[in-house]
Amino acid sequence: MTMLRQTRQRQAVIEVLRASRAHPDAAWIHSQVRGVLPSVSLGTVYRTLDALVRDGVVVTLERAGQATRYDYKRAGEDHHHAVCRTCSAIFDVDAALVPAISPAGLPPGFQVTAVRLEFMGVCPECAGMGQGVKPSEGHTI
Ligand SMILES: [Zn+2]
Ligand SMILES: [Zn+2]
Repeated sequence: MTMLRQTRQRQAVIEVLRASRAHPDAAWIHSQVRGVLPSVSLGTVYRTLDALVRDGVVVTLERAGQATRYDYKRAGEDHHHAVCRTCSAIFDVDAALVPAISPAGLPPGFQVTAVRLEFMGVCPECAGMGQGVKPSEGHTI
């Protein structure tokens, strides 16, 4: 595989992730990347995602029994996540709006370099409390 091809695949995966706020899985990313680079395999998409995660460009969200979801790290935009237990939707939570976490309870001498929070719960749509929000098609309640 040529360097140029790898660069184009990498760029295509980044563009797909940058355009999405849905925290997609690799299969969805693959389907989107194929719109630009039709010959790209799912394996290539996985390898490209792995490299992007290693480079700190993309972060993963992992949940037991579910496909890993991917998130593009936007510069200067630190965020946490709120995860719906019912439909698995993942919402961004602006880290600047979340009060600072007290480091109490950490092992003595442990140096915190980053904080990642996940709020688990039920989204408004699944809770049936969406203000004027109709359940989207295919959304099972
Ligand atoms: Zn939900
Ligand atoms: Zn996110």
